[in-house]
Amino acid sequence: MLGEAAAFESLGGVIFEQSPLVSLEHGSPVVLKTAGGTIRADRVVMAGNAYLNGVLPVLEGKSMPCGTQVITTAPLEADVARALLPNNMAVEDCNYLLDYYRLTRDNRLIFGGGVNYGGEDPANIEALIRPKMLKAFPQLADTKIDYAWSGTFLMTLNRLPQFGVLNDNVYYAQGYSGHGVTCSHLAGRLISEVMTGRDERFDAFAGLPHLPFPGGRMLRVPLSAVGAWYYQTRDKLGI
Ligand SMILES: Cc1cc2nc3c(=O)[nH]c(=O)nc-3n(C[C@H](O)[C@H](O)[C@H](O)COP(=O)(O)OP(=O)(O)OC[C@H]3O[C@@H](n4cnc5c(N)ncnc54)[C@H](O)[C@@H]3O)c2cc1C
Repeated sequence: MLGEAAAFESLGGVIFEQSPLVSLEHGSPVVLKTAGGTIRADRVVMAGNAYLNGVLPVLEGKSMPCGTQVITTAPLEADVARALLPNNMAVEDCNYLLDYYRLTRDNRLIFGGGVNYGGEDPANIEALIRPKMLKAFPQLADTKIDYAWSGTFLMTLNRLPQFGVLNDNVYYAQGYSGHGVTCSHLAGRLISEVMTGRDERFDAFAGLPHLPFPGGRMLRVPLSAVGAWYYQTRDKLGI
């Protein structure tokens, strides 16, 4: 992320931190307000994903913020680390509510798991994730956890990303459903293509059908939890 910011600045881009967008008025130009000022722009790219929080309500009915949590162990002995993941691969398991983990260069295990519909931060991340880690790696029972954090990603009903354009000049890309590290870069490339007149690849995504979450903003969290309970039960039964 820091490398990308440096690359952007080296090409003449300017980044304004601590200036959240609070409103967007469609038109030509688009009028964008932050707490400290107003920007007028011919074209806008909205990439706030799960954190936009009310700035573009039209995008919110078809997506749902979700929390996921990660813990990181203290550095492990090299042979202990290698025994956990002999091929040093990054792993995502096949469960509906999946766990994901990999080793760091200094032989820590980073372990993430679970989904918290609605995106609220749990009070004790270690208490939530450590048991999942020990289920996969019981040999880490006495290992100290050095770091724990939580973040919010944006889920769509069909788990496909949402790319599109509003009013011909507000482009958006969001809702990678937990897989945005690579796909958000594809989105950036495709939006740059469409802005420079090459739109076929962007249109392939923009044409994907997206349904609203059943129950809308009020009920999307409890209804998704019921669905997840069903699929989690299937995971447990191995069906
Ligand atoms: C704990 C965790 C683990 C994950 N693991 C993986 C993984 O292993 N692989 C994977 O592919 N994906 C993973 N994801 C998902 C991945 O992080 C996201 O899909 C990806 O970051 C989406 O990129 P983005 O640029 O669209 O949004 P974000 O990275 O969420 O960036 C949005 C940016 O918009 C800014 N913003 C929002 N609203 C405003 C506003 N009003 N004004 C100004 N700025 C605003 C935010 O400050 C933020 O900088 C994980 C997510 C979490 C939380």
